[in-house]
Amino acid sequence: MSKVMIHSATYENVHQAVDRVFERFPMKLKGKRILIKPNVLRASKAEEGIVTHPAVLRAVVEKVEKMHPASIVVGDNPGAFSYGANEESFKKTGLMEASVGYYQNIGSDSQKVDFNPDFLSTVSLSRVVMEVDIIISLPKFKTHGLTVISGAIKNSYGFLPGAQKAKLHKVAGRPERFHEMLIDVFRLRVPDLFLVDAVVGMEGNGPASPELRNIGLILASDNAVAMDAVIAAMMGCEPDRLRFLQKAKEIGLGDYDLSTIEVIGELKQLLGFKLPPLGGEASINNKALRTRLHDLTLLLPQADPELCTGCGTCVDQCAALALSMNDNLPQVDADTCITCFCCQEICPEKAITLK
Ligand code: SF4
Ligand code: SF4
Repeated sequence: MSKVMIHSATYENVHQAVDRVFERFPMKLKGKRILIKPNVLRASKAEEGIVTHPAVLRAVVEKVEKMHPASIVVGDNPGAFSYGANEESFKKTGLMEASVGYYQNIGSDSQKVDFNPDFLSTVSLSRVVMEVDIIISLPKFKTHGLTVISGAIKNSYGFLPGAQKAKLHKVAGRPERFHEMLIDVFRLRVPDLFLVDAVVGMEGNGPASPELRNIGLILASDNAVAMDAVIAAMMGCEPDRLRFLQKAKEIGLGDYDLSTIEVIGELKQLLGFKLPPLGGEASINNKALRTRLHDLTLLLPQADPELCTGCGTCVDQCAALALSMNDNLPQVDADTCITCFCCQEICPEKAITLK
């Protein structure tokens, strides 16, 4: 039986809730390589409630530090409005400071892996995701126009660097297919622990809605399906309506049926909680988002001959093997490029622009 813990917390005393989480979900971290992944949707202020709050991240980092891991990395790949702005997103949100020196731009090194050919035959994941021993995922309790809730499973979409997220959005097309594709991304590397910032949550047209809600809770589980079922129930959405939870259950990742979940704490529906329109209409009707996704999927990297020194770093690092040197200048193969934009991030001369 999966367990979900619900514990009261404020941002001032959140370390107490974090201590309780690690008691309920004990982990042996000594000598292990750890990735801590907050939700860093975009460069925004912490009080906008768009990202995991820095107080939650700091409490988790400090807890993990005391357990003598071999290494800690704090990182994420921000979404469609902040591609290429990894550091800036961490700084503006206060998450850089909360990372206490463990921040890493995980978008600058990636590894190609096989994917569901119904969508794309391969995708690139941030390399660190495949290399660490333990992943601790720190989602934000939010609504989402396409997936209704943004919780444990959706947080793993940030394992994809660059504009692949936009490309997959476009390839998926319909909301149900997006839900199914999301599970294909999630299953590439299932995190080991989920600790959700529900101290201040978001309702309405998330994931960047101005409507915040004081909830005063930290939620935790070692099973993402159970975790998201509880989040959905708290929001007043029947978990079995969500296609991504249905698919997760079909392939054995967990069960969203609340009768199969042991809730440690009190599970209460948040009265009058505002959901986005079920089924993804909010996102599909968002003209700014549609235009941005369209633009991003048309972009390709191009090296500036004035700045490029021909060092070949970008060619070596391209996980999709989409770059080759031609007259000492990297050229991109448009059919092979997966628009991860890692080459742009890695170029020491800042010679690559997106055209
Ligand atoms: S990494 Fe930059 S400088 Fe080096 S070959 Fe690529 S574009 Fe040129
Ligand atoms: S060429 Fe650049 S953007 Fe395209 S796949 Fe390679 S690293 Fe990613």
